[in-house]
This record gives sequence, C-alpha cells and structure tokens, in this order.
Amino acid sequence: MNLYEYQAKQIFARFGIPIPDGDLADTPADAAAVAKKLGGTVVVKAQVLTGGRGKAGGIRLAHSPEEAQDLAADILALSIKGMPVRRLLIDRGVDIAQELYLGMVLDRPGRRVMVMASAAGGVDIEEVAANTPEKIITVPIDPMLGFQSFQAREIASGIGLERPMIRPFTKVCTGLYRALMESDATLAEINPLAITGDGQMLALDGKMVVDDNALYRRPELAAGKDMESESPAEREAHEYGLSYVKLDGYIGCLVNGAGLAMATMDMTKLYGGEPANFLDIGGGARAEKVAAALRIILSDQNVKAILINIFGGITRCDEVARGILAALEEVPTDLPMVARLVGTNEEAGREILAAARMKTATTLNEAARLAVEAAK
Ligand code: GDP
Ligand code: MN
Repeated sequence: MNLYEYQAKQIFARFGIPIPDGDLADTPADAAAVAKKLGGTVVVKAQVLTGGRGKAGGIRLAHSPEEAQDLAADILALSIKGMPVRRLLIDRGVDIAQELYLGMVLDRPGRRVMVMASAAGGVDIEEVAANTPEKIITVPIDPMLGFQSFQAREIASGIGLERPMIRPFTKVCTGLYRALMESDATLAEINPLAITGDGQMLALDGKMVVDDNALYRRPELAAGKDMESESPAEREAHEYGLSYVKLDGYIGCLVNGAGLAMATMDMTKLYGGEPANFLDIGGGARAEKVAAALRIILSDQNVKAILINIFGGITRCDEVARGILAALEEVPTDLPMVARLVGTNEEAGREILAAARMKTATTLNEAARLAVEAAK
C-alpha cells in the first residue's frame, strides 16, 4: 500500500523528523483558509500516489491566500499520470538552500534494509541513479543491530554534509528507520530532505510503501487505505477476498490456488494465448465469490475467452459451477468459455455447466488449447 505524502509526513513527524507546518485542503476555499492561517508564502501540493508531481504542475508556490485559492483550483483540475487530484496539502513555504535525498528500502535478496543518500536530491533522483550512480551512497543496516548513529556520520561525510548538519541528519536517519520498521514499510523516502537558508533540516516530501501483508497488525494504517486509488475491479476483488492482478492479454483466467493460477497462465501462453489476468479465488470458494470473480473478468474489455480451471479439494466443483451460472444470469455474455473442473463433485459441476452449453475439458492442456482457439 502506498501512502500519500501527507500520511508519510505525519508518520515521519511522530518519529521526530521535522516537517513543515501545513494542513490538508479539499477545495480552493479550504486552501485559502489554510494559507491564511499559515501566513506568508505557502506551497500547494497535489496529493496523488505518484512522483514527478512538481514537473506535472502539481506543486506550486503561492504568496497570498488568494493566489493559493487560484492555484488550488488549477491543481484540483489536474490529472497527474492518470490520477485525478482530489486533495491538496498546503505547507508553509520554505527557503531551500540545498536538497538532499534520503531513502531506506527493503533489500529482499540481502534480507536487510539499505539506506540510500545523495547530496543531489530534488526532483531528478532517478536520473542521478541512472547517470551518476556514484553520487548515491548506499549503506546496509544490520537487522539485529538496527540503525547505528555512526552510520549516519558515515553517510553524512559521504555526501559532504557540513559538521553542524550531522546531528540533525542523524536524528532524521534514526527516525526514518524507526518509521519504516514500525510501519512494516518496504520503502520510506524523503526527497527532498531540505537544508533551509537558516540551517534547519526539513522533510519537504515523503513517500512510504507499507507491506500489504502486514496491514492486519497495523490497523491504524489499514484504516487509511485509500479505496479510490484502486480500480473498481481491484476494489471488488478485495471485497470478496480474491487475489486479482490485471494483465494485458485476452484470455480471462478463473482459477483456485495461486500456483494453479500461475500454471494456467503458463499453459495459456504455451498454446499461443496471452492471459488477461491472474485470478485466484482461493480454497473453498462459495458460489457468490465465484460470481464476483467472473464479473471482474467480464468487466475487462480485452477479454475474448474465459478459461476456468478448478481443482476441487475443499473447493466443490458444483458450487463453482453454480457461481458461474449465477454470474452469467447477472452479466450475460457471448464470450466463449472453457471449464476444466476436477476433484470434489466434478461430475455434478460438469453436468451443471454442460446444461448451460459450456465447453468442458478434463485436462488443463485441453482446456487451455480450447480457450486459445476460441479466442481466435
Ligand atoms: P515531487 O515532484 O512529486 O517529488 O514533489 P516534491 O514534494 O518533492 O516537490 C518538488 C519540488 O518542489 C521540490 O524538490 C522542491 O524544489 C519544491 N518544493 C517543495 N516544497 C517546497 C517549499 O516549501 N518551498 C520551495 N521553495 N520549494 C518547494
Ligand atoms: Mn519529491
């Protein structure tokens, strides 16, 4: 789960990382009110789950509440990388002397967190990484020891920080590591970490990615999960506890079990097709869950044929068949469908589907071949 800038910064603040004063606004009038409360120059910032907002016109400086109101109206009308702007963060403007980059990311192969830092922070860190990687310092953190202050001094000298900045930088690093660990985040990033004209260090931007598998034990984060950032299909999949990933192909796949779903996608490709999705309905799915899965697949305009592959263990094939028929009553379709049902109650399942004049197959090979043929 990606956090918005304002959510990440709120977490940073709880762990002692200085952030600018600011508040949220959903309308231009709110933006003016926040700007008035803050006084002086403010920065109006689009809250969307993507980087590069600055370059897309989503970050603007306003010198008065009136200007903040006008800019807020402009920014609320924007779509940045396809994401409509629904909310703004209005922060007190800061006199920036230098922009640093500081990121911490889970290094999965290394089984530890890596710190990345650069004196060349700001909007183009990806370019720095691609063209002048030597300007980025990386330091691994020992998971048993956690972040150590000597590491902050090592990084600080590596990116050429002046002596007086070492203490605030150490505080930011320590706070960021705790913020990452205590949020079960796989990424926590500050870009820019600004040094102001009067020598303060402030996190002007914030990005965090929280591990979805840890949300059950971070209810305060899960509550903020932004449903609007999901597509309607993803939202429905979540609601029904389905694992769904949309892909670019045209064979809709409805499968129980993640491994079987992967195998089904591979088999589709083997016969010259392209899967439209990964979809795992899980074990023991009842008819209504199956119906939801089929609705999700049918909502994808690219789908030309549907391949249903069920291995009935605790999942009952007749229950799956009933779910399919229920969905077809709701969303009738002319798309060809091929079902391979084996295991618990397979005869009953096949009978139900045959009565609905659906193609059935007994092996995955046959089912995949028929589905690919039907799509063509
Ligand atoms: P991003 O483009 O999505 O990464 O958005 P950022 O929040 O990083 O903002 C982009 C750039 O806007 C920063 O690198 C700064 O140069 C500038 N910026 C952001 N906040 C302020 C601010 O308070 N004052 C000034 N002068 N510039 C700011
Ligand atoms: Mn940024």
